[in-house]
Amino acid sequence: MAIADIEKSDPEVAAVVRKELERQRNGLELIPSENFASPAVMAAVGSVLTNKYSEGYPHKRYYGGNEFIDQVEDIAIERAKKIFGVEHVNVQPYSGSPANFAVYMAVCEKGDTVTGLNLVDGGHLTHGWKVSAGAIFFNSVPYHVRPDGYIDFDNVREIARKHKPKLIWCGATAYPREFPFKEFGEIADEVGAYLVADIAHISGLVAAGVHPSPVPYAHIVTTTTHKTLRGPRGGMIMVTKKGIEKDPDLPAKIDKAVFPGLQGGPHDHVTAGIAVALKEAMQPEFREYAEQIVKNSRALASALADEGMKLVTGGSDNHLLLIDLTPFGKGKGLFAQEALDLAGMTVNKNTIPAEPASPFYPSGVRLGTPAVTTRGMKEEEMKLIGKWMADVIKEAVKYEMPDDREKRKDAIALFRKEIAENSVVKETRQKVLELCKRFPLYPDLE
Ligand SMILES: *Cc1c(COP(=O)(O)O)cnc(C)c1O
Repeated sequence: MAIADIEKSDPEVAAVVRKELERQRNGLELIPSENFASPAVMAAVGSVLTNKYSEGYPHKRYYGGNEFIDQVEDIAIERAKKIFGVEHVNVQPYSGSPANFAVYMAVCEKGDTVTGLNLVDGGHLTHGWKVSAGAIFFNSVPYHVRPDGYIDFDNVREIARKHKPKLIWCGATAYPREFPFKEFGEIADEVGAYLVADIAHISGLVAAGVHPSPVPYAHIVTTTTHKTLRGPRGGMIMVTKKGIEKDPDLPAKIDKAVFPGLQGGPHDHVTAGIAVALKEAMQPEFREYAEQIVKNSRALASALADEGMKLVTGGSDNHLLLIDLTPFGKGKGLFAQEALDLAGMTVNKNTIPAEPASPFYPSGVRLGTPAVTTRGMKEEEMKLIGKWMADVIKEAVKYEMPDDREKRKDAIALFRKEIAENSVVKETRQKVLELCKRFPLYPDLE
């Protein structure tokens, strides 16, 4: 992917791409759903495969000229089957959200009851949040976490027994602990529901054997390919042996839901990128990377705790941490996020269990270690980052977030004006820059 090629026909867009490259190089990417795909993955996505139409599936296409597209899709499918130990894989979903919607289409009728972890408790939009298609077309009854941040199994069991959902989602976007797939499997079996494990965040950890696999317990597994798995932006749907035992038609139902149910032509260039990423995931270095993600997450958790930061559940088993800022007052996630951004550390504000403020002005910050681990950073760097984050957060939380709308506007304006000039923030920005220079990103890319 040469930016120079973009430049020849479009200097304006090339300049923006260059700026984004510099932003990625000069900052610490701590958003847990982000990562840096390899140059090989990016080259596959930027390849001539983007030119092809191939509606249908390998060896059953609606267009001619698909000899090589069939090969690349077969390779991606075979690798995914091997890595995750599943019976059937669909690699065509355009991303994680369409993959999940295809699952609804495959196993539910309009109006059927479904349950998933509530968004504000760390669940994903597509697991039935009220404004999403999952709740508009289906009857969504969300379950919750306990005040201590762990899944509330009494609540899951109660909802499952009372509402008899057709489909139970498990998986999350903001859960710092190992996901208890086994317990979910037992509940799903008891009420005859399909269990879908959405491992979008942790699929790289699962692939490497660093997080337990949901495959023995779930009927269906969905994932994105661009988070810890470190591929291009895309999605996959997998059917397990248990899924086929429950419903031998499940693979066909999934495939039909993706195409022609929901999508047209697959993004073959992305399929190639997924195939390359899966090959990378089979290498011993990938396992080291996945293990390091978890070590880094634990190191960052203890560095933050040493600086007096409260963590939801008290720590992390995976790639992700949630800082609970309520000891400093409520609704201060935005202040922390913006101050950290100015200091060169990208995170996102997030709700915490029993959120006392609102999803838009939440009281937590979500962060994770996949991207900095890909960059080569280890425990030693996590110690520095934890200290710097705490320094900046302590400046940010000096500001109060009012409930009143007008007062809130003024408070945010004042915060933005002052924090930009804050000396701790400015000094931290320099330290971050120096650290980034020691871990060059995409050194060959210009
Ligand atoms: C990121 C994510 C998705 C959605 O992926 P998109 O590619 O953003 O559509 C779905 N489920 C979970 C749990 C996620 O974390």
